[in-house]
Amino acid sequence: MTRRAWVAFLLAVVIVGGGGWFGLSAAGVFDRVQPAPVASPPRSTPPQSTTPVPQPSVRTQSSTPVQSRTSVVTSSPSQAVVVRRYVFPVGGCRADASQSHHDYPASDIFAHVGCLFVAPVDGRVDEVTRVDSWDSKTNRGADRGGLSVSVVGADGVRYYGSHLSAIQPGISPGVQVRAGQSLGRTGKTGSAQGTPPHLHFGISWPTGPNTWWIRRGAVAPQQFLNSWHHGGQLSPVALVAASHRAYGAEHGCRSYC
Ligand SMILES: [Zn+2]
Repeated sequence: MTRRAWVAFLLAVVIVGGGGWFGLSAAGVFDRVQPAPVASPPRSTPPQSTTPVPQPSVRTQSSTPVQSRTSVVTSSPSQAVVVRRYVFPVGGCRADASQSHHDYPASDIFAHVGCLFVAPVDGRVDEVTRVDSWDSKTNRGADRGGLSVSVVGADGVRYYGSHLSAIQPGISPGVQVRAGQSLGRTGKTGSAQGTPPHLHFGISWPTGPNTWWIRRGAVAPQQFLNSWHHGGQLSPVALVAASHRAYGAEHGCRSYC
């Protein structure tokens, strides 16, 4: 009896001990294996999905008829769906944008009389000046632009072109326009009467009507013009917002008034 009991006791120790060890190791395997597939994939996906989204109202490149310098982009099949939001504001002509401007930020884009002034971005026509009332004897700041059109873009930035020789029929305040749509033609009205013809181009934040000292240009547009001229899509939104904050409260014209 004592010998059989001893053998039975030994068997019980082996079975219970082995079963306990197996259970532990099985639990250990689960602990190690289970979290791995749950943890890694969801962490890597969100940054990818957030980057390409912010292009809601965009157009394919082929739908902007004026942009003559984008053929480089279309030559690559993988770029066929490239979206375009910004276009260079002078179309159909050679145009040279000045890299600086007297007295305040702007660019004089030299081009022949009659070249197209086009909307740089989708937006809404803001202000239109159809009569040239500039006089060299008074040289009033409000009159220097001659014929002009401003557009508040869908990006919230205002774009202004002046010294126009003509304004496109149908271009009036409140009218919706698309990037690349003709707003008028370049010329030398206003204070450009005695200079080579050019489009004075200004970027600013929207204001109330007739705030010409902001509308004429409040942010240096050169880096954006240079980008758009080469098919780039550099946006002035952040710089305009920062410049607006730095400008502070509106107290009227501060220089070259
Ligand atoms: Zn100018």
